[in-house]
Amino acid sequence: MKLLFASANAHKITEIRQLLPTGYELVSLAEAGFHEDIPETADTIEGNAILKAQFMADRQPLACFADDTGLVIPALNGEPGVYSARYAGEARNADDNMDLVLQKLEGKEDRSAYFVTVIALYLNGQMHLFEGRVEGTILTEKRGTNGFGYDPIFQPLGFDRTFAEMTSDQKNSLSHRGRALAKMMEFLK
Ligand code: IMP
Repeated sequence: MKLLFASANAHKITEIRQLLPTGYELVSLAEAGFHEDIPETADTIEGNAILKAQFMADRQPLACFADDTGLVIPALNGEPGVYSARYAGEARNADDNMDLVLQKLEGKEDRSAYFVTVIALYLNGQMHLFEGRVEGTILTEKRGTNGFGYDPIFQPLGFDRTFAEMTSDQKNSLSHRGRALAKMMEFLK
């Protein structure tokens, strides 16, 4: 079964391809001939996932899904949350975003955080939502070079390595996106 994934993020495409069971083929936006930006103007993570999936459902016939992810830090009143991509500005620079988080957390005792992913799957005229979360801690400095986004400062609970110090298999087995995707796969079975 072909599933169009409504994201231009090469890291996400690689992660999700590794997680899809046999019988499913992920079609990227580029492979489907789409090169325009998909709007992400909702003010919730769930809203943005739905917006992106609906945008592609309106424009092509394949079953399609989109994900939206946020890093939620209670000590920063839930920031960066839905604004995770452009927390430090429109340049969407991962290093700047992490530096801003580290700066805002200076002197705060509570460094707990979680990643949450919502996947919106548009199939046979209906939208289905799947959520995955992983709890962890924001370290005081960046560690590791794998992964993307906030991975170098996020250490999942029960581990002594950041996501950026893990192999993609290790990250996928416990990550927010891995968990949301597992729920979607269970549903599709
Ligand atoms: P979006 O889902 O592409 O909107 O992601 C929002 C922001 O969260 C981006 O800045 C990403 O870099 C970041 N992000 C999404 N997924 C991950 C992840 O698995 N690890 C670290 N950062 C992530």
